[in-house]
Amino acid sequence: VQSVAQDFDFFYFVLQWPGAYCDSRHSCCYPKTGKPAADFGIHGLWPNYKTGGWPQNCNPDSQFDDLRVSDLMSELQREWPTLSCPSNDGMKFWTHEWEKHGTCAESELDQHDYFEAGLKLKQKANLLHALTNAGIKPDDKFYEIKEIEKTIKEATGFAPGIECNKDSSHNSQLYQIYLCVDTSASKFINCPVMPHGRCDSRVQFPKF
Ligand code: 5GP
Ligand code: 5GP
Ligand code: 5GP
Repeated sequence: VQSVAQDFDFFYFVLQWPGAYCDSRHSCCYPKTGKPAADFGIHGLWPNYKTGGWPQNCNPDSQFDDLRVSDLMSELQREWPTLSCPSNDGMKFWTHEWEKHGTCAESELDQHDYFEAGLKLKQKANLLHALTNAGIKPDDKFYEIKEIEKTIKEATGFAPGIECNKDSSHNSQLYQIYLCVDTSASKFINCPVMPHGRCDSRVQFPKF
């Protein structure tokens, strides 16, 4: 049995590149609201311990309630789109993220503020803008992982974690970017521990 509000040390703010989710083994379905923009989408805001582990599913009594985020709904659809199949309206993804991860940060953020914090962090990071300005574009070409890291570090002030997956031709490709965030979910910090990335030294940035 888990206690209701577990402490944690920081958040991973995780953004996913839709092109890499969609051309990997599990493929994807567009949300009912339409094909997402060719931009990073939010995956989640995940409480973590600085030792590398994390709490999850902290409060079974705290269910996702879409009425609490009704003012954020159009922004969630745009910035936090679901790509899993079968095609749905996103409610399943947000429910999963709230119940698995958000409930472990309830000592800091209620449901509305949790989702709002994710949206604000995405704007603040503005990753696609930073990358394209540096000539790193989603054009199916390969880029040095070091260059991607350096560009994001210069833009946000902090080194990111980068996770890759493989497309059907087994190319290593840019899948998710992890930024570390303080427990109030308002500012980026140096990562106390980096996620393991499984990237080759050169990775493809797939079209979407
Ligand atoms: P995977 O096995 O794909 O790396 O991760 C599966 C799930 O485990 C993720 O969707 C996420 O919910 C959780 N997870 C993986 N790594 C981390 C982590 O470093 N921190 C937290 N909080 N959750 C993680
Ligand atoms: P990995 O091999 O990526 O370290 O972990 C594989 C899976 O083990 C993760 O996707 C996650 O589901 C689980 N896992 C690993 N470490 C932790 C942890 O500290 N806490 C929890 N809740 N799950 C973990
Ligand atoms: P995690 O447990 O790693 O936080 O989230 C992964 C879960 O969210 C999986 O069960 C997956 O099916 C679901 N999911 C729904 N939409 C998406 C999406 O767009 N990207 C990812 N990575 N997972 C999604």
